[in-house]
Amino acid sequence: MTNSVSSSQAQIKPAAFRRTIDGYQVDLYFLKNSNGLEANITNYGGILVSLKVPDKGGELGDVVLGYDNLNDYLGSNPYFGALIGRYGNRIAKGRFTIDGVEYQLAQNDGTNSLHGGRKGFDKVVWQPEELDTPDGPALKLTYTSRDGEENYPGTLHCAVTYTLTNKNELKIDYAAETDKPTLVNLTHHSYFNLKDGGAGDILGHELMIKAGKFTPVDAGLIPTGELRPVAGTPFDFNTPTAIGARLASEDEQMQPGKGYDHNWALDRQGKGLELVAAVYEPNSGRFIEVLTTEPGLQFYCGSFLDGTNRGKGGAIYQQRTGLCLETQHFPDSPNHPDFPTTELRPGEQYTQTTVYRFSTR
Ligand code: BGC
Repeated sequence: MTNSVSSSQAQIKPAAFRRTIDGYQVDLYFLKNSNGLEANITNYGGILVSLKVPDKGGELGDVVLGYDNLNDYLGSNPYFGALIGRYGNRIAKGRFTIDGVEYQLAQNDGTNSLHGGRKGFDKVVWQPEELDTPDGPALKLTYTSRDGEENYPGTLHCAVTYTLTNKNELKIDYAAETDKPTLVNLTHHSYFNLKDGGAGDILGHELMIKAGKFTPVDAGLIPTGELRPVAGTPFDFNTPTAIGARLASEDEQMQPGKGYDHNWALDRQGKGLELVAAVYEPNSGRFIEVLTTEPGLQFYCGSFLDGTNRGKGGAIYQQRTGLCLETQHFPDSPNHPDFPTTELRPGEQYTQTTVYRFSTR
């Protein structure tokens, strides 16, 4: 499966992103680190539009799926490269209770709520600030979500900083504060393809996830509550394994998401920034290490991509041409008291840091 147009070499023009939305200026911001790595980010949805990193021969190529103009992001878009909030992933029936008060969210994914509702943080305009930090160039994005927005309680002040570090990392620092008890589970939704940016499939990418357990799901991709050992199942990625190697498995958990679309309960030493996953792509030699402060990782192998999204350079994104590694708290945590909590109360600081570190082998 390849496209004639090389999506990994498509040029992104700032003018194609300049526009006013909801009364705010939207633009495209360019970061380049001291080793020549390049990122384009728009303050609409905090979307990472492109990320160019070298292959083993030193040639830069774009390793994320997406569009080359803002207009296409406003249309049918499976959250390409976006910031996700206020609650990344699913909440069963869109319902949760805090301090005895029940809240009903939009049911925008079957009967469930997905990725913050109808107009999540991926569809709002963030206020941008370009920074020159000792670690490398950065873009700080801030957004205030009003009390009751998408039916979540509390005014939530959020700040997310993308830094393209001189150690060849895309570092994402999140922070949030609320004035009423609420839920927060922020994440980033890039679809990576280290081989060709989405022209071909990701089945040969070798994935490692440091996790002894995962959260099995029902037909609507809501965790059953069980923490199931991965040992002896196609969900064991403790030893690096090609993503395509076990997709034909008879394991019933391969049905709901047509393959991998699950949360892994990460094996962590503590609460700091730790290496939790890695991906290696043998043709390009590109390698990503994922470090995070979060307890969970949603690995989604892009099975719902179906060729209807025409992306950068004319690329048609077919099934499994991109993979997501979404660091987060577990799905539907508000309805599973045993899962690490996603509640945030006034006076508390929500923080999360995730690093995607690029190199070649
Ligand atoms: C979910 C998938 C969903 C995708 C949105 C992922 O985070 O795990 O189930 O289809 O987002 O396109």
